[in-house]
Amino acid sequence: MIIVMKPGAPRDQIDHVMERIEKIGLVSHPIFGTRRTVIAAIGDKHGRTFDDIEALPGVERVVPILAPYKMASLEVHEERSLVKINGFSFGGTQIGVIAGPCTIEDEATTIETARAVKAAGAVALRGGAFKPRTNPYSFQGLAEEGLKFLAAARDATGLAVVTEVVSASQVDLVAKYADVLQIGARNMQNFLLLQAVGEQEKPVLLKRGMSATLDEFLFAAEYILSEGNQNVILCERGIRTFEDHTRNTLSIATVPALRERTHLPVIVDPSHATGHATLVPAVSKAAIAAGADGIIVEVHPRPEEALVDGAQSLDFETFGRMMKDLARIADAVDRSL
Ligand code: PEP
Ligand code: MN
Repeated sequence: MIIVMKPGAPRDQIDHVMERIEKIGLVSHPIFGTRRTVIAAIGDKHGRTFDDIEALPGVERVVPILAPYKMASLEVHEERSLVKINGFSFGGTQIGVIAGPCTIEDEATTIETARAVKAAGAVALRGGAFKPRTNPYSFQGLAEEGLKFLAAARDATGLAVVTEVVSASQVDLVAKYADVLQIGARNMQNFLLLQAVGEQEKPVLLKRGMSATLDEFLFAAEYILSEGNQNVILCERGIRTFEDHTRNTLSIATVPALRERTHLPVIVDPSHATGHATLVPAVSKAAIAAGADGIIVEVHPRPEEALVDGAQSLDFETFGRMMKDLARIADAVDRSL
């Protein structure tokens, strides 16, 4: 159920409603909007009615939540959520670009990339220190040393850093260095990992699993939200199909379809979606035109030398040109870069 409070209902009335919800065995999650507060009451209702809750001071009405993912649903939270990263808000009118190498290789290259993507207008640096590789013999990342290089790049540029966490036992370690914790496609249904990132405060960038439906994607987000962390950014990165001319198949329709269902910011990863650097600029433009709140894109100073994913990484010059084009697309859809 959603308990919609009257505009301006004071905090003691909100607390009182939450106490009553908890008393009947449901979990209450307040969502503070700019105009009014709504409280999601989650759990098994056992056929109970809510007339008594509706009669409490400050309550405007009680409405059932129809979507199975309660907290991620637009029904509970009609205003779009803003996820703040280092002063930048994903989900607002500005488009956010996260850019950097697939994997962290060394300190100098990381800082060189951070400086270049910042100069071109990126709001955060990406780069994996723990890499979920299909082949166990492939480079697995520099682990904590890579996290230190990311932190050094943040110190040098002021950019926020986004990096992947692959196991629940490493959440504290990664959160010590990162500004945003990325959950990769291969871990979208690692429920213990989702719960672990939901229990801590750093924002989470959740990638769509390569065979996940949108409902499954939103249930994965719900795992994080229901643990208390409201700062989740969804990332469409393409799914596995019979098609093999691109690394994955990107459905651009996912962007407006997610925006119809959820208040969470939605971004697109054109690099893993396509697997080819030549396709990345056009797909990035399409994502922004379709309503995405941003992109996360692989950029490397010398893609031909990249340890991982060089074929889909943009060089600095192409990235700079693409950013200029993205600004024009953003303008055309009443947004800015
Ligand atoms: C990545 O962003 O580095 C990555 C591994 O992507 P995905 O989880 O989408 O495959
Ligand atoms: Mn990659």
